[in-house]
Amino acid sequence: MTHTTEAMTCAERLLAVQDEITRACRDAKRASSSVTLIAVTKTFPVEVIEEAVVAGHRTFGENRVQESKIKWPALREKFPDIELHLIGSLQSNKAKEAVALFDAIHSLDRPSLCEALAREIEKQNRQPRLFVEINTGAEPQKAGVLPDDADAFLQNCRSNYGLIVEGLMCIPPLIDAPAPHFALTAKIASRNGLKFLSMGMSADFAVAIQFGATHVRVGSAIFGERK
Ligand SMILES: *Cc1c(COP(=O)(O)O)cnc(C)c1O
Repeated sequence: MTHTTEAMTCAERLLAVQDEITRACRDAKRASSSVTLIAVTKTFPVEVIEEAVVAGHRTFGENRVQESKIKWPALREKFPDIELHLIGSLQSNKAKEAVALFDAIHSLDRPSLCEALAREIEKQNRQPRLFVEINTGAEPQKAGVLPDDADAFLQNCRSNYGLIVEGLMCIPPLIDAPAPHFALTAKIASRNGLKFLSMGMSADFAVAIQFGATHVRVGSAIFGERK
């Protein structure tokens, strides 16, 4: 766990999280440059986000297209090197906006979305980095491809939709120890030749790094509790 508190500034919390990433990488004998910190800004206003940008951070995550459209275009104009990741589920009818706005999409999980994204990627000539979400806990209320269906789905993404999928994403069930879910996701990625793993949040990113996470998605440890 990261020991950030509400009394710290956003810049201090960001540093503390980055320190913990460095430590976890050292323990796992990995280069700290092999892990990208995605600062998750959902529900937080532009003023708060700007503190993190001014502190030097450039990689951010949001979970909703609508909210992102309101918050990010002006920030991106001001800071053109910002990289924005969509980490929440995506409706096919928002594929157009998602391809226009995001540099990475972590929530590819069904053929209809593959089709919509493939169309927009071609039309807009923009190629966001794509991750397939795996529902490692097979939770009925959760998005994502079931582990047993993952290989076929990835194959389908490539051969039927021409999509370049580069990684997997998972959100372990709240009540489970996360390690087996990270291990399973890493195994699926490895046998499918995928180089990126989006896994680990505020409570468990150090564990995720042990299991090979290349992208950790951290919100509350940096920005405080969401209201
Ligand atoms: C909100 C969210 C996060 C960040 O969660 P924290 O526990 O606040 O770090 C990570 N991933 C996804 C998909 C999210 O929706």
